[in-house]
Amino acid sequence: MTILVDMDDTIECLLAAWVKVLNERYGRSVTTEDVTDWDVTKAYPGLAKEQVYGVLNEEGFWGRVDPMPGAAEALQRFIANGHEVYIVTATAYESVAEKMRDLLFRWFPFIGWGNVIIAARKQMIRADVLIDDAVHNMIGGQYAKILVDAPYNRGFDAAAEGMIRVYSWEEIEKEIDRLAAEKAAERPKRRRSRRKDR
Ligand SMILES: [Mg+2]
Repeated sequence: MTILVDMDDTIECLLAAWVKVLNERYGRSVTTEDVTDWDVTKAYPGLAKEQVYGVLNEEGFWGRVDPMPGAAEALQRFIANGHEVYIVTATAYESVAEKMRDLLFRWFPFIGWGNVIIAARKQMIRADVLIDDAVHNMIGGQYAKILVDAPYNRGFDAAAEGMIRVYSWEEIEKEIDRLAAEKAAERPKRRRSRRKDR
């Protein structure tokens, strides 16, 4: 399969690092669980959008972001099993170089730049499956959808929208194996039906 994999809060823990920096700087005690809206500003009343989002473009920030437990091992197994893995991220252009160097290539050195897609409209990409924490990257996409659970997407009825909600990379691996088996089972069926048409 061709597997698209988001970066922020899918293979790394952006929100945890972000909240930590904002709390230190502004004397707050917000936890990741308090961020129940996609707009992080809502968890920081009194702060301007630029104060909250500006952190992401500051030098040194991406080096403070930790990888998600199990993500690197799972991606390596996907590749070993013959899947094509593409990192697809809507990263702002200002932080692309630092984020690649200090985060992606540091913790996921088996991913090359040739397997990175910078895109805000992930629905434009053709693939078998997208693994992502953002509901807006799923809706309308022509791929199977694995939604990584997060406090800001918990109110969303994933099942009703044909998405599979997961809570760990262990679960993601199980879903990928299931989807791959489904796809493999479809192939001979298609061949048989073509023979019938002839
Ligand atoms: Mg994300």
